Amino acid sequence: MKSIDLTHEKVITMGDLAAAAQADTSELLVSESAVMTPSALEFTEQRRISVRRGAKAAAATSSPSGAIHDLFTSPEAEAVKEEICAVGRKLWQRQYVDGNGGNISYRIGPNEVICTPTLMSKADLRPQDLCMVDLTGKQLAGGRPRTSEILMHLEIYKEVPEAKSVVHCHPAHATAYAITGRVPPTCVIPEYEVFIGKVALSPYETPGTPEFARTVIPFVRHHNTVLLGNHGIVCWGDTVTHAEWYAEVVDTYCWTLMLAAQLGAPVSHITSDKAADLLAIKKKLGLPDPRHELKECELCDLPEIPGAIAIEPRPCGTPASLSSDEIEAIVQAVTDRVMAALQAKK
Ligand SMILES: [Zn+2]
Repeated sequence: MKSIDLTHEKVITMGDLAAAAQADTSELLVSESAVMTPSALEFTEQRRISVRRGAKAAAATSSPSGAIHDLFTSPEAEAVKEEICAVGRKLWQRQYVDGNGGNISYRIGPNEVICTPTLMSKADLRPQDLCMVDLTGKQLAGGRPRTSEILMHLEIYKEVPEAKSVVHCHPAHATAYAITGRVPPTCVIPEYEVFIGKVALSPYETPGTPEFARTVIPFVRHHNTVLLGNHGIVCWGDTVTHAEWYAEVVDTYCWTLMLAAQLGAPVSHITSDKAADLLAIKKKLGLPDPRHELKECELCDLPEIPGAIAIEPRPCGTPASLSSDEIEAIVQAVTDRVMAALQAKK
């Protein structure tokens, strides 16, 4: 393999590639922050020349440069790149990503992750547009700079060894929940219970920053889907395709709940014993859910009845009916509140 070292260049143009054009170059070594002009990028793609970023440091280590190149161009990596491009098109077709929004990644090695580049529509991805980074976010391969939101993906891979792929997108219905600080209730639709179940909501942070990346850490071990406060969603799975399925399941669920709310009638809930059946299926499939360890009577959220006065959930095992003293206390509390409200209006 013939390499050309361009790590001293900040901007790489066709002029810099003149030597590569004359020789059988198969690899370019460029600095981490180097920018390639569109014609230079196209040239490397046409000639199938791999672009290795941050190469100087790597070349100085015992890790042979060829190993990274071999991994990035291996049959497994090429199949993953095709799958990422197909999933990118699905996300765009389902209107889960706008502009250059959203990002997709796959952990191909213990320290290597293939990911989408920054500033590209997920509808237009081609296998040669993808990048490879290490678990610190340093770009190892690929002509385009990696997505800035890869840092969140990497936190998930470090926290959950079972996570092989991460998909982040902005589907409108699930994001509507995320911007109102709400999570959808459980025990309404079986498919949602099995594939997603209890969803988490992480606090807002500026996208692309290490602080943003860390917001998901407390949730991802027990949840394969997290609503990102004022932002969108992130899902992890054992394959790229499965991680995208979870985005579809959670968004359709949120959409269905919104439509049901417009009917003005309360939503019926699956009973706790039937929910336990669904969780047993989920456990067999190896899918995470914080409810795996709970008692049957704790599995479902209380049904929300429009206009009802919220009462604190009763501890498991206590009788469902209220004593006359308890009823008296509730009536007194409601009366006091109504009187206070009337007094305030005067
Ligand atoms: Zn985003």
